Amino acid sequence: MNTITAESHTGSRARYVNSKCRCDNCKQANADYMRAKREEWAQTPFDQIPHGTCNGYVNYNCHCEECTLARTVAQQERKAARK
Ligand SMILES: [Zn+2]
Ligand SMILES: [Zn+2]
Repeated sequence: MNTITAESHTGSRARYVNSKCRCDNCKQANADYMRAKREEWAQTPFDQIPHGTCNGYVNYNCHCEECTLARTVAQQERKAARK
């Protein structure tokens, strides 16, 4: 087996995304990146948020009518796809 062990490299988000490495180091690197991104997105002015998207609701933490609706629709679609 050619498994990359956590000891063999430091965590990297690029590795997590591109090489689909799911070792603890890379998972942590990705989690750190996403947390920083969310904080950044939370500072986004209201008019620059992609409203009417799940992205707006989840990542930008916008709960306006449009984003809430998009989120609801996406959840319903996910539920329907599971059947
Ligand atoms: Zn890794
Ligand atoms: Zn919105």
